[in-house]
Amino acid sequence: METMKKLIDKLAQTRALSREEFKSLLLSSSDNALRAYAAKRAGEKAVKRFGKGIYIRGLIEISNICKNDCYYCGLRRSNTKCRRYRLTEEEILDCCRQGHGLGFRTFVLQGGEDGGFSDESLCALVKEIKKRYPDCAVTLSVGERERDVYQQFFDAGADRYLLRHETADDEHYSKLHPANLSLEKRKQCLYDLKEIGFQVGTGFLVGSPYQTIDNLCSDLLFIQEFRPQMIGIGPFIPHQDTPFKNEPAGSLVLTLFLLSLLRLGHPNSLIPATTAVGTLCEDGREQAILAGANVVMPNLSPSLHRKDYMLYDNKLSDGAEGAEAKDVLEARLDKIGFHIVTDRGDFKAIEIE
Ligand code: SAM
Repeated sequence: METMKKLIDKLAQTRALSREEFKSLLLSSSDNALRAYAAKRAGEKAVKRFGKGIYIRGLIEISNICKNDCYYCGLRRSNTKCRRYRLTEEEILDCCRQGHGLGFRTFVLQGGEDGGFSDESLCALVKEIKKRYPDCAVTLSVGERERDVYQQFFDAGADRYLLRHETADDEHYSKLHPANLSLEKRKQCLYDLKEIGFQVGTGFLVGSPYQTIDNLCSDLLFIQEFRPQMIGIGPFIPHQDTPFKNEPAGSLVLTLFLLSLLRLGHPNSLIPATTAVGTLCEDGREQAILAGANVVMPNLSPSLHRKDYMLYDNKLSDGAEGAEAKDVLEARLDKIGFHIVTDRGDFKAIEIE
């Protein structure tokens, strides 16, 4: 235990560990006291950097149509039971209008890889949102595109881009995705986005089928090398209409431990308490905040379509995760001593010990 605590201290001080060091920590993840120590140090680190303020992002799920067939995802092309929708530009702008009124200053436009949204239409949409709400940041999360398209999105005014690498191990990647998708391409997209100037978010699934401790070490090392501005991790949760329907969900405690390690290594990064964490456990997001997260992403999508954006079974869609329930969120944060911050919450690298 003392040796493991020293590794946590080393990560907090140097912001980096070797594969062997990460591996020994992850092999000790069943040790309650060790996890509590990591959460305490990571929580303190987050408070030192961000105070007790939690940034909010309004999530707009613009389309559940997807050309990809990722084995874990409820939106996969082969899922014929999914009721498909695509929001119109008017509907999306209406979500922004409501969100702006509620105090949101970041809009996250997320969706499947839907060819029905042409590059031009997305650029026009981003420009319109920035014109109407110049005080807001726009984050896109619409999957893999060519570099010149990412450049067009950036030139249109998009500030940030979320693209999880999902797993940083080639072989594992090929067990979660069909052969036309590759980790190499996914990483190339991430490097392109960063070079263009986006604030970039990446991350991975915890407990996805076939995942090993070594795979998780590769995830931590990739993030350590890439140094993203945002890091989103969440447990894998099965979806009944996917090939992984009978696989067990990822572990909440392991997700929280990994989140703490990421916070210690990346004190300036914006780390959300994800919906998947809140789906696994009623107070999962509060636990994530206490373990080092500093962002929540309430759902601003039209309520009519929320149940259709089912990435996994029982995804929260009609409760406190909704943007309209901001006062409920505020009360829940208050209970653990935190509060909502409504500014854009851009990434800033600040030296803290
Ligand atoms: N198409 C875009 C992309 O690929 O980045 C954005 C939408 S995608 C549905 C958003 C995220 O949902 C993925 O990065 C993945 O990690 C997560 N996700 C999909 N299926 C999941 C599952 N069964 N359990 C947990 N998270 C899941």
